[in-house]
Formats: sequence, C-alpha cells, structure tokens
Amino acid sequence: MSHLNPGPPRARGPAPTVFCYICGRQFGSKSIAIHEPQCLQKWQMENEKLPKSKRRPAPVKPEAVIVGGSVDYAATNEANWKASQGAMVECEHCGRKFRDDRLEVHQRSCTAHNPAKRVAGKSVERKIVGKA
Ligand SMILES: [Zn+2]
Ligand SMILES: [Zn+2]
Repeated sequence: MSHLNPGPPRARGPAPTVFCYICGRQFGSKSIAIHEPQCLQKWQMENEKLPKSKRRPAPVKPEAVIVGGSVDYAATNEANWKASQGAMVECEHCGRKFRDDRLEVHQRSCTAHNPAKRVAGKSVERKIVGKA
C-alpha cells in the first residue's frame, strides 16, 4: 500500500497575518506586499480629493520592532495597527474620531447645526431600580 501524498504537507495553523499600517486591515504575509502600495495609492488619491485644509500627511510605515536580533511580529503588527488608527479623522462638528470612511457616514447625521452629542462621561444617567 502506498500513500499518495499530493505535494508537500501544508503548514498547519493560522496563516501569519500582518496589519496594513494604512487601513488597519489584516492581510496574509504575502498579500500585504501587494496590498500596501495599492492601499497607499488609494489613500493618496482620496486625500487629493479633499480640500487643502482637510488633507493629511501620508501615513508612515512604522519600523519593524526588533527584539533580540529578530523581528518581533506581534509588536510590529501592533505598531502597524496603531499607525492605521492614527489615520483617523476628527469630526469637525462633535470632535469624535472616525476612520475616513466612517466619518462620511457619521456626518450624514452630525452636522454643524446639529452635531452629535459627545459622550460626556462614563456614568450614563440611568436609575437602577434595585429589587432587593
Ligand atoms: Zn491597507
Ligand atoms: Zn460628528
């Protein structure tokens, strides 16, 4: 009886994923190389559409975090993710921060005349009727 092994055994476990420092989405370690330049290009195109006052400096790729001579992927990922979060835009009406694409949706209901209410404090006034 011979076992037919079609090709080398595939590596098990989750494929390594990398956060895109621009959009914050996760990609496989191979597709990130393809995605990043495209994502940056898209970002620049979107940015150019904006009025000058709203344009932002292009996101900068964080350096890989090296620990003990080798790349610490978890830490690098975190740095990438944080960089993408830095690309959030502040709503001029209510001051809350949103991702670019979310801001557009948000500003349909949040306008200069009728800004969305800021989340004032942690304590939401809610009377808890305790049943002892
Ligand atoms: Zn991206
Ligand atoms: Zn707002």
